[in-house]
Amino acid sequence: MTSRATRVLVLNSGSSSLKYQLLDMRDNARLAAGLVERIGEETSRLVHTPRPEGGDADGGDADGSGKRERTGPITDHTEALEAVSAELARDGLGLDSPELAAIGHRVVHGGLKFTAPTVVDDAVLAEIERLVPVAPLHNPANLTGIRTAQRLRPDLPQVAVFDTAFHTTMPEHAARYAIDVATADAHRIRRYGFHGTSHAYVSRKTAELLGREPADVNVIVLHLGNGASASAVAGGRCVDTSMGLTPLEGLVMGTRSGDIDPAVTFHLKRVAGMSVDEIDELLNKKSGLVGLCGDNDMREIRRRVDAGDERARLAFDIYVHRLKKYIGAYTAVLGRVDAVVFTAGVGENAAPVREAAVAGLETLGLAVDAGLNAVRSDKPRIISPRDARVAVAVVPTDEELEIAQQTFALVDEGRTVIA
Ligand code: AMP
Repeated sequence: MTSRATRVLVLNSGSSSLKYQLLDMRDNARLAAGLVERIGEETSRLVHTPRPEGGDADGGDADGSGKRERTGPITDHTEALEAVSAELARDGLGLDSPELAAIGHRVVHGGLKFTAPTVVDDAVLAEIERLVPVAPLHNPANLTGIRTAQRLRPDLPQVAVFDTAFHTTMPEHAARYAIDVATADAHRIRRYGFHGTSHAYVSRKTAELLGREPADVNVIVLHLGNGASASAVAGGRCVDTSMGLTPLEGLVMGTRSGDIDPAVTFHLKRVAGMSVDEIDELLNKKSGLVGLCGDNDMREIRRRVDAGDERARLAFDIYVHRLKKYIGAYTAVLGRVDAVVFTAGVGENAAPVREAAVAGLETLGLAVDAGLNAVRSDKPRIISPRDARVAVAVVPTDEELEIAQQTFALVDEGRTVIA
């Protein structure tokens, strides 16, 4: 009896971090999850959770779950992945296991070429490298993760799953900026969109929740995490999304401004004398909720709002106002909306954000039921009144599961199953 390789290791490599999950694709069970952070520093830290309940490996609720932690220098991604492999091996799940079918890598920028998950070869690596100028923070780290995994398991398929892929269906009139075409094309300037695996997963799950086929529903997905983006999904295909050339455009985020008059940047340079790097840092790291009120955690902001803090109130109102504008815009883009769905850290947990975002939008068929909205759950659920014209829903995202499923679907195709 030969057993089939059914496990997928999902890697999300940042510049100084490595997040991972190991899943068994027979039942989507999470066998292990974890995080290595501060790679390259003296104080690197690895947190490993065997059999997590799902969700974030670094979640604080893992006490008693067998979570293991080690600190001490981890010099690079190779060492980090070796440390991860050693932790997995302690649970009998090492990277050398014949049950491992593939490694799925989150790659932030796939440009226009990668419209689907792709088995990595030299040409794919070269193309991801070519996209570094449009994703200077992310693609180099993603490449490092892939190369490291290739070194450790050269025989195993490595699959790249791109954040941008789901958005490649956007029509040209949504994807192009209204700037000189030759300049835009020469520098590959257009709207690519991000969080694609989340938008794909959540829009599909929403159709399931409504008991309909993805092809038959139009959905507005609001992915509200520390980064935030909205998308308009018509019949399972993305037709517009709020992030653009980079993840800076669109909604107000934890530390990013979202939409802004581009002339603000000229002004900051010419009048305030700031350098391009300083402006980049200001808009990406010191703006959004943190710039407005000093906090980027919606829990803390709500606590301050409830305590009568005016700055926190204004930050909340600006955040919600932007959300409303996108709901309105995407209602117009879609023509008919079947569901508005909230996901990610803020969307899944912050009932006041959901309530405020649809307040006053009854003419669009939108409302939340206060009782349903207040329920805390990690399950997909509808929070609009029974007779509402448009469903308002909360659907927890699961980017790792989506990456694992896409990876497995690619490498498992056509295999003979001998059970
Ligand atoms: P994510 O990037 O999806 O992990 O989301 C992280 C963000 O979710 C945090 O910065 C918080 O603002 C928000 N968040 C997490 N839990 C809660 C909660 N219980 N209530 C409100 N916001 C939350």
